[in-house]
Amino acid sequence: MSRWIEEALHGDFCSRYLAEKVLYDNESEHQHLVLFENPTFGRMLALDNVIQTAEGDEFIYHEMLAHLPILGHGAVRRVLIVGGGDGGMLEEVLKHSSVEQVTMVEIDAAVTEFAKEHLRGICGDAFEDPRLNLVIADGVDFVAGTKERFDLIIIDSTDPIGPGEVLFTQGFYASCKGCLAQGGVLVTQNGVPFLQSDELSNSLRFMRRLFADVTCYLATVPSYVGGPMAFGWASDDPELRRPPMETLSDRFAASGIKTRYYTPEVHLAAFALPVYIAEMIAEDTET
Ligand code: SAM
Repeated sequence: MSRWIEEALHGDFCSRYLAEKVLYDNESEHQHLVLFENPTFGRMLALDNVIQTAEGDEFIYHEMLAHLPILGHGAVRRVLIVGGGDGGMLEEVLKHSSVEQVTMVEIDAAVTEFAKEHLRGICGDAFEDPRLNLVIADGVDFVAGTKERFDLIIIDSTDPIGPGEVLFTQGFYASCKGCLAQGGVLVTQNGVPFLQSDELSNSLRFMRRLFADVTCYLATVPSYVGGPMAFGWASDDPELRRPPMETLSDRFAASGIKTRYYTPEVHLAAFALPVYIAEMIAEDTET
């Protein structure tokens, strides 16, 4: 029997999805997992009543958080993914043959086990790739304690509620900076600015205290309702996010990767910010 599933992320606004089939509805040690099938979005995963990923549009989110920094940097060999339990980010990152090792630190083993069983349309066979080092731990503890160094850190987190809250703090970003290799890049999922402005402005304010070049870039992901979503970008070299078009095109062609959203043109355009978002992240409006 079908039912409606309501997302509980914003206090005065919500969206609801027709679940033609609920495939899973249970508590893990850390959160409440629901997997259902919607006619438009395909399989959708909700954690603590917040949509995490949908088969229909996951390519937009995952391509923009994986290919954009890898191709912008140009020499990424070691990647750290914090969160990302559904495996979609892992799958995109591993498409780059230049990537030698991916450490993925996910707090909830149930999400990764669940993805392997029910979300192969999103993670493919990424969890079986020998380049993966899967660590089940809190991302905060991992970055504070590791001696490893990464060329790219991707924060593929839940929103700043529940276990994901710690992944939006100054201390966490400082530890991330500490385990970035020279010339490394940090990218973050930073919500939908129109509805979550504090999340974005706070994260970028914290990062600015640590990195020389901090901004955000945008992509519209239909199941993250409310306008374009923002991805935080932090590095010490502004040229990494805006290589010449020719360089970017050469790198993209050499990667041999087929995309459905990312192109070098989209890459450069994604950093163009509408006034309301530029003002939201401007330094002089920060407290
Ligand atoms: N694409 C998604 C979005 O924008 O909402 C995020 C997807 S992914 C499923 C988020 C993952 O972050 C979840 O599997 C969750 O268990 C994990 N997570 C939350 N807090 C964490 C923490 N402190 N350390 C590591 N992983 C965490």
